[in-house]
Amino acid sequence: MPLRNGEVSHWMRRHPGDVPLAEVPATADLVVVGGGLTGLWTAYYAVRRDPGTRVVVLEAEQVGYGASGRNGGWMSPLLPGNRAVYARRAGAPAVVAFQRAMTDTVEECLAVMEREGIEADQVRGGQLSVARTEAGVARLRDVREGHLRYGFREEEVRLLDGPAVRARLAVDGARGGLLLPVTTRIDPAALVRGLARVLRERGVTICEQARVTSLSSGTVVSSRGSVRTNHTAVCAEAYTPALLGGRDVVPVSSAIVVTEPLPQATWQQIGWEARECLGDAAHTFVYCQRTADDRILVGGRGTPYAFGSGLPGDGEVDARTLAALERRLHSFFPGHDLPLAHAWRGVIGVTRDWCAGVLHDPATRTGVARGFAGHGVTATNLAARTLLDRLHGRRTALTALPWNDHDSGRWEPEPLRWLGIHGAYRLFAAADRWEEARGSRRTSLLARAGSRMAGLE
Ligand SMILES: Cc1cc2nc3c(=O)[nH]c(=O)nc-3n(C[C@H](O)[C@H](O)[C@H](O)COP(=O)(O)OP(=O)(O)OC[C@H]3O[C@@H](n4cnc5c(N)ncnc54)[C@H](O)[C@@H]3O)c2cc1C
Repeated sequence: MPLRNGEVSHWMRRHPGDVPLAEVPATADLVVVGGGLTGLWTAYYAVRRDPGTRVVVLEAEQVGYGASGRNGGWMSPLLPGNRAVYARRAGAPAVVAFQRAMTDTVEECLAVMEREGIEADQVRGGQLSVARTEAGVARLRDVREGHLRYGFREEEVRLLDGPAVRARLAVDGARGGLLLPVTTRIDPAALVRGLARVLRERGVTICEQARVTSLSSGTVVSSRGSVRTNHTAVCAEAYTPALLGGRDVVPVSSAIVVTEPLPQATWQQIGWEARECLGDAAHTFVYCQRTADDRILVGGRGTPYAFGSGLPGDGEVDARTLAALERRLHSFFPGHDLPLAHAWRGVIGVTRDWCAGVLHDPATRTGVARGFAGHGVTATNLAARTLLDRLHGRRTALTALPWNDHDSGRWEPEPLRWLGIHGAYRLFAAADRWEEARGSRRTSLLARAGSRMAGLE
């Protein structure tokens, strides 16, 4: 079969939406802009807390069209953002509280899915980062220390030696690993479609192909009509600058490839029985999963950023990125026949300090949640509940978390932005090559320079 490239994602093809277009109502209590996970969770909690609330979701394309229907399916407890930055502003105890809230949020998502009958191939196999160099092993030890300092418990972060990793799955050259057992594998489009079904059953109006073109206090204008509203939640993540303008967030690309379903003979050699979400400790990080229909999915950053904050459209992947992902797949699992079936990409929303923010303007009764930086599958649920508390002026444990009104600064104008992001990614790739070639035990200075350039330190 020829490789399918683009077409939003393998997940969205598996779960096509076939719902007739809903009219845009003239009035609402809450308008949600964006039909991704942030928007759908916001609508869900709005009607769950008060079933009489009139909620309208306006989505430019179809629900799940953005990152929420294209991602790697890791429902992970990791924070969206740089813990040191949050701690500098709000203190370490606030970051610990944030971490506990994120870990609880995995439980919350799974509980809702169970209660509402949403089947998204969820399997709690944990998240396994594999080190294939000595520098990577040292880095995983440091990462674990950081996790413990910022709110993880001992049993939530387990170091594994090489044989223990290889007993789980045969990643070539594995020297050690770090396991976070809470993380759960999902099919992201099944979650999005399931949530949309639940919302429609509860009377939420989801208007697809309704692109919002302007927002003002109390009125949201879309390509299919305007809505007068009490509250507005902007949930457009990497698409936020295209809607609101400004340089708060840039869209950074992440690309994925899946194989054809693999035969049982291959799985007997690879293992991967627990369906761990698999990553590695390299600087050019990749994320993988074994899908419910027995494919291997590999994702990574590839060509990171399009000049002028360009958006990915239907997600075609360039040849260089595709070749890099395929190389990584074969380097993890050499000697196997791993035919590729589908490649696609999407964009993550990244702020200047890589921290997410839940923002609220009481004057316009508008809230914004964005900047999940590739860690949004779980965080969007927490953001949604926080956003609703903010919109209704409640002071809760959630509104005290350090991402509330977090000011990340602004990205540089072009061409500096393009040069900086591309430069940082090149340094990460060079650092990986250097560590692999020298068998170094220490993280390369090139990676440190890349982190500084990207705003990660
Ligand atoms: C390839 C990839 C892999 C990823 N893997 C993971 C992972 O494994 N784990 C993890 O935690 N995170 C992952 N992420 C990040 C995660 O998917 C996102 O953080 C999360 O889905 C963001 O959800 P959202 O609803 O905020 O944004 P989105 O899902 O992007 O939704 C925004 C929606 O707004 C709509 N929209 C845009 N403009 C307008 C407008 N003007 N009017 C109306 N609607 C508009 C878009 O069409 C879109 O549907 C990944 C992201 C990508 C791209």
